[in-house]
Amino acid sequence: MAAGQDNLTAVLYGINDMRLEQRPISEPNDIQVLIQMEVVGICGSDVHYMTHGKIGPFVVEQPMVIGHEAAGTIVKCGKNVKHLQPGDRVAIEPGCPCRMCNFCKIGKYNLCPGMMFCATPPYDGNLCRFYLHDADFCFKLPDNLNLEEGAIMEPLSVGVHACKKAGVKIGDVVLILGAGPIGLVTLLAAKAMGASKICITDILDIKLEMAKKLGADHAIKIEKHLSEDEIVKKVVTLLGEEPNASFDCTGVESCVRIALRSTAKAGKVVLVGLGKFEMNLPLTSALIKEVDIRGVFRYNNDYPTAIEMVRSGRINVKPLITHHYRLEETLQAFETAKTQKGNPVKILIHANPNWRPS
Ligand code: NAD
Ligand code: ZN
Repeated sequence: MAAGQDNLTAVLYGINDMRLEQRPISEPNDIQVLIQMEVVGICGSDVHYMTHGKIGPFVVEQPMVIGHEAAGTIVKCGKNVKHLQPGDRVAIEPGCPCRMCNFCKIGKYNLCPGMMFCATPPYDGNLCRFYLHDADFCFKLPDNLNLEEGAIMEPLSVGVHACKKAGVKIGDVVLILGAGPIGLVTLLAAKAMGASKICITDILDIKLEMAKKLGADHAIKIEKHLSEDEIVKKVVTLLGEEPNASFDCTGVESCVRIALRSTAKAGKVVLVGLGKFEMNLPLTSALIKEVDIRGVFRYNNDYPTAIEMVRSGRINVKPLITHHYRLEETLQAFETAKTQKGNPVKILIHANPNWRPS
């Protein structure tokens, strides 16, 4: 690339200290591609790194490029890259594992201890103009998916992975706790996989309205005056039976408790939300019901499924996209994410200077 070419990059220096600065553009190695970044979504974790400087054991100790929900256009391919060529539009799976360890070998590469994941310290993300990524974690977008949908494949993959973990199938009865972006993509994936009745909860009406718009059959507003017993009863009454798969998409202890208590015998409770490290949970009642409790950490081999679900029209992610900013407006975009002003679901940042609002 020409020296001095614009590579404006959003870098998190510390708590509430995000800066836009120029960074050099590197050449791809044999297995990498150079990508013109197009669309990068803001995730709750990006905001958390900005406001707290850490998530659990991951601490921002040196300036880190933010962003990991992304799509772009291939500019240049390393010499061993066969499946992509310049001009291809790709969804970028943000984590590159070692491909050598046992977890990688058994296909659970999301658990790879050597995982290099965009914008998880110490690894840089991709909210910039030009970015290098391993080609095998770039997925060519079908003609009928745009780059905005391409960026949404990241959160959608979390929902797809969660639903695969629960084995959601035709006729299933599903409870989802939390109607934030992750609860909503879980809803979309569960519906597409055949769930016939879905009940979702949240503490905010506005979140539940969006969930209903996206196809939730029932919505419960969690209010302080409702007891746990009352909520469990409401779930079962609305669904007409106990859910056989429940997803906690909040990380809140009371939600995990409701999931464990509501779920039918032999059902599954999938834990997606990241909350307190220790929780007080009604485990005995769950084990007596032989409820399976399953954890979810990101996704593995789920991007192709997510893309295919959108290509085939089984999922429409467009209603999730509520806000647009340019790369130059990154600080405003994060302000909107922080304050939740205008009720954002997915805030997208456009990194290509030629982008024009449609
Ligand atoms: P979010 O904060 O935007 O959404 C959480 C939603 O839960 C909000 O709408 C909130 O109003 C609602 N909520 C809060 N308390 C509630 C309660 N008591 N009952 C019902 N609803 C309640 O977050 P998100 O981006 O949607 O992510 C959800 C969770 O998933 C987070 O904890 C996030 O860290 C986690 N996450 C996990 C993975 C993974 O790989 N396991 C990946 C992405 C996100
Ligand atoms: Zn590995």
